[in-house]
Amino acid sequence: MFDKILIANRGEVAVRIIRAAHELGVKTVVVYSEADRDSLAVKLSDEAVCIGPAPSAKSYLVIPNIIGAAQITGAQAIHPGYGFLSESAEFARACADNDITFIGPSPEAIEQLGDKANAKATMARFGVPTVPGSDGAVATAEDAARFAAEVGYPVLIKASAGGGGKGMRVAESAEELEKMFVAAKTEAANAFGNDEVYLEKYLSHPRHVEVQVLADSCGNAMHLCERDCSIQRRHQKLLEEAPSPALDEQTRQAMGEAALRAVRGVGYVNAGTIEFLLDTDGRFYFMEMNTRVQVEHPVSEMITGSDIIKEQLRIAAGEPISIAHRAPLSPGCHAIEFRINAEDPAKGFMPCPGTITRFDVPGGPGVRVDTHIRAGYKVPPTYDSLLAKLIVWGDTRAEAVARGKRALSEFVIEGVATTIPFHQAVLENEVFLSGEVYTDFIETQMNGGTL
Ligand code: ADP
Repeated sequence: MFDKILIANRGEVAVRIIRAAHELGVKTVVVYSEADRDSLAVKLSDEAVCIGPAPSAKSYLVIPNIIGAAQITGAQAIHPGYGFLSESAEFARACADNDITFIGPSPEAIEQLGDKANAKATMARFGVPTVPGSDGAVATAEDAARFAAEVGYPVLIKASAGGGGKGMRVAESAEELEKMFVAAKTEAANAFGNDEVYLEKYLSHPRHVEVQVLADSCGNAMHLCERDCSIQRRHQKLLEEAPSPALDEQTRQAMGEAALRAVRGVGYVNAGTIEFLLDTDGRFYFMEMNTRVQVEHPVSEMITGSDIIKEQLRIAAGEPISIAHRAPLSPGCHAIEFRINAEDPAKGFMPCPGTITRFDVPGGPGVRVDTHIRAGYKVPPTYDSLLAKLIVWGDTRAEAVARGKRALSEFVIEGVATTIPFHQAVLENEVFLSGEVYTDFIETQMNGGTL
C-alpha cells in the first residue's frame, strides 16, 4: 500500500477519500484553491497545498500544479475523485510520466471509453447491447437526417466528449434536427473543446440503471449490483437507489454479466460504472462507461457492505480486490441517496451560494451523511452546488423510504435554500413509492420539480 497519496479534488469527495486513506494507514495531501483554504478537507488532511485562485481553470484543472504538489510532498499516487481531471487521459498520462500512480484506469482506457461514440462501438464488439445509434460520429446534417429517417424520430444528438447531462438535444422532426445539428456542434465545441456529435434513438420512458464494477490487476473482475438513477432533472441525477426496483433477478444477472463482458473486453482496471437505459419491456442498452468513482457510489457500498474508495486504493497499489471472494454479490438491503444541493426548488433549482448559518445533520440507524459542510461555511459560487449526500438504508425499500423521511426531517440547513423539500415531496409521491420511476418522472409527475 502507498505511504502517502494526493487528492486532486475538493468538497465532500475529498473528505471521503481522506477518510478511506486514513483507515488504510495512508497519509494524505490535499490540493486546494484559495476559495477552499478553510475547507474540511484541508483540516482533515495530513498536508495541504494551495494550487491557485478560485476558478477551477486556474487551480483544480492545472495539471502541472497538481503534479508539482505531489512531487514536493512525496505523494506516490493521486486520487482524482469525480469531475475535474478524473476523466482526463492527459492527466493520467502526466502522472505516469512522473512516476506517480493515477488511482484509476489507464490513460488508454480513459481515452477509449471517454469518447462516447467510440465506446458504444467497442461495447457492441463485446456483445453488449447498445442504444440504437449512428456508427460513430456524424459529420454533416445530411448524414444525421439519413440516420434519423432510418431509425425514426425522436432522435437524440449527443456530444462524443459530453458529460454531466450537458450537450444533449432531442429532435422530434427533420426540421428540428436540421436546426439543432449545427447548434449542437457549436455547443459541444464550446463546452468540451470537441465538436463531434453522434445520434441515438431517443427511447421514450426509459429507466437509467447502472452497474458498479471493480477490476484489479490480479485478474479479478466483479460487479457490485446496480443503481437506479432515474430520478433526474434535465438529465442530472438527484436521487439514486440500489437495488433498482425494476429489475428481477434474471435481468440483474444479465446486466451484471454484460457489464463484466465490457470490463474484461477492454481490460479495464480499477472502479468504473457501466450506464444502461432499461426500456419498458425490460431490455437494456449500454449508454456509456464512467471511468471514475461516481457521486452515487455510497448506495452500492451500503447494499454490498463494501468500501469502493478503499478498493480503488488497493487496486492502484497492485493488490487484489479485498471482497473478490464474495462475488457474485447480491443486494443485502435497500439504499437511497439524496443529493442535498444549495439550489432552490421553488425557483427552478437556481443555485444559492451564501453562508450556512445552521447545519444539523441527521443520525441514528441506517443513516450516513457525506459532507464537507459545517455551520458558518460559505458556499462559494465557483463550484458545483452539492452540500451533502444523505444516504439511508433498510431491509426493504419501504424501510429505506421511512428512514429517508425521518432523516430528511431531522436535517436542518439554514442560510441557503436546499433540495431537502424536493426530496421530501418525492418520498410522498405515490408513483415513486410504487417504484414505477422513469427518467421523465420529475417532468411528468412533479411539475418539473418546482415546488
Ligand atoms: P452524460 O454523460 O452527460 O450524463 P448520458 O449519456 O449518461 O449523458 O445520459 C444522461 C441521461 O440522458 C440518461 O440518464 C437519460 O436520462 C438520458 N438519455 C441519454 N440517452 C438517451 C436516449 N437514447 N434515450 C432517452 N434518454 C436518454
